Amino acid sequence: MSRSTEPLIFELSSPGRLGVDLPRCDVPSVDPGKAIGQNLVSSTGPDLPELSEIDVIRHFTRLSKRNIGVDTSFYPLGSCTMKYNPKVNEDLASLPGFASVHPLQPADDAQGTLRLLYELEQFLVEIGGMDAASLQPAAGAQGEMTGLMLIRAYHMANGDSARRKILVPDSSHGTNPASAALTGFEVVEVMSNDRGGVDLEDLKRLTDETVAGLMLTNPNTLGLFDENIEEIVKIVHNAGGLAYYDGANMNAILGICRPGDMGFDVMHFNLHKTFSTPHGGGGPGSGPVAVKKHLTRFLPKPRVRKDSDGRYYLDNDCPDSIGKVRSFCGNVGVCIKAYCYIRQMGAAGLTEVSKNAVLNANYLLSRLKGTYDLPYDRTCMHEFVLSAENLKSSGVKARDVAKRLLDYGVHPPTVYFPLIVHEALMVEPTETETIETLDAFADAMIAIARESESDKEKVLGAPHETVVGRLDEVLAARKPDLRWKPRAGAAAE
Ligand SMILES: *Cc1c(COP(=O)(O)O)cnc(C)c1O
Repeated sequence: MSRSTEPLIFELSSPGRLGVDLPRCDVPSVDPGKAIGQNLVSSTGPDLPELSEIDVIRHFTRLSKRNIGVDTSFYPLGSCTMKYNPKVNEDLASLPGFASVHPLQPADDAQGTLRLLYELEQFLVEIGGMDAASLQPAAGAQGEMTGLMLIRAYHMANGDSARRKILVPDSSHGTNPASAALTGFEVVEVMSNDRGGVDLEDLKRLTDETVAGLMLTNPNTLGLFDENIEEIVKIVHNAGGLAYYDGANMNAILGICRPGDMGFDVMHFNLHKTFSTPHGGGGPGSGPVAVKKHLTRFLPKPRVRKDSDGRYYLDNDCPDSIGKVRSFCGNVGVCIKAYCYIRQMGAAGLTEVSKNAVLNANYLLSRLKGTYDLPYDRTCMHEFVLSAENLKSSGVKARDVAKRLLDYGVHPPTVYFPLIVHEALMVEPTETETIETLDAFADAMIAIARESESDKEKVLGAPHETVVGRLDEVLAARKPDLRWKPRAGAAAE
C-alpha cells in the first residue's frame, strides 16, 4: 500500500538528457566482441534513466528522507544498541593512510593500521577480562560461530569428541541456537526461572559429559543481570564444558564488570553496537572474539603480532588455529571507527557510557511500567522488556503499538522478542539520548495506550503519516517486487 505519488526515477527520464559529461576517450577503442566474445556482448544498450544532475540529487535526497535512522529519530530497538555514531569516527577512518591501504600491502607499509588492530585487540581483551582476541569475524553471529569452533577445537585437542551439546537459555538471542546448529552442535534449551535468570535446577539436570558448552548473554535479553552468574559458569565448568559469553550488548557493563571475571572462557563483541559503529540496513559489522589462555592457540589466523623491535606483522604460523573465518583481518574500516570511539571515551568515559545507558533505561522503565505490563519487575540494565498484553482486550497488540510509534516519529522498539514474553516490547534507549527525547518517547507510548481505549482504529490502522502504510509482511519478505518494468503510459503507483 503506497501513498506516494512521486514518479519513479525511470519515469522522470527524458531521452538524451545528461547529468554528467564524460571526457572524450583518449585510448584506442576496442571491439568488445573480439575482446570478450560476441556471445557475451549485448545487442542493446542498458535501459537506464536519463536525467539532469539536479533531478538525480532530488530523487536520492527524497528517498533518504523516507527512512527512519539514528540520525533522524530516536531508535530504541532493544538488543541492537542504536546509539549515536560519532561523525569523528568517519573522518578518521577516511584518512588516506587507512582508506587506501591494500590488504596485501607488505607489513612494513602498513605499520599504522597493524598497530591500530593490535591495540584494539588489547583494548577488547582488557574490557572483556580475557587474554587474547581476533578481529576477524565480520558480525556478531560470525563471532558466535568462531567461538563455538574454538570450543570444539579445544575439546577435540583434549580427545573429548563426545561433547556434542550446546546449552542455550530460552531467553537467548536467536543467533545463539542458530550458530550452535550451524557449527554442528546439538542445541539444548535451558529454562529461565521466574526472576528471568537461568533456572539452576534445569541447568544442573542438563549438564553432563556430553555438553561442550553453554552460551549465555548477561545481562540477558530481558535486560536483567543474572544473579547466579558465577554459579552457572561453575556448573558448566565442573562438568568439563566451556562457557561462551554473548557480548553483543556490552553497553551495561563497560568498566563495571567483565565476562572474564565472571568465569567465561570465550566471548564475542559487536563493535557495531556497543562501540558506536554504524549498523542496520545490512552495513558492515564486526564481531571480534576474545578468549582465555587455554583457547588462544586455536584463534583464527593470521594473528596480528608485535616483534621485539616493536614492528607489527601478520603471523600465519599458527598450527593449531581453526583457520580463517573471513578474508584478511576482518572489516578493518569498522575496527578503525571502534578504536576511535574507545580512544575518545577512554576508560572513565566508557564506564560513564554504561552508567548512563542503565540510568536512561531505568528512567524509561519507571515512566512506562504503570501503563504497560512488566513481566519481570526488577531493576534493569541497558534495556527492559514490557508486554502489551494489557492492551489485548481492546484488540491492540505489540505490533500495533510499534506501527503507531512511527506516526510519533520514533523507530519502534524490538517486538515479539525475547520469545518468553508475550506481546514483548523490548526497549533500549542507549546513553546518547537526552531526557527530553526519553520523555517524548514515554509520552508517545502512554498516548498510544490511551488511544487503544479511546480510538483503537487509529492504532490498528497505523501508521498514517508514513510514505507506505501496513505492508503484507509475509508477501514483502517472500516475494519482494523490486523491479521496475516499463509499461506503455504507466502512471506512478
Ligand atoms: C545483535 C546480537 C547478536 C548478533 O549480532 P549480528 O552482528 O547481528 O550477527 C547476537 N546476540 C545478541 C544478544 C545480539 O543482540
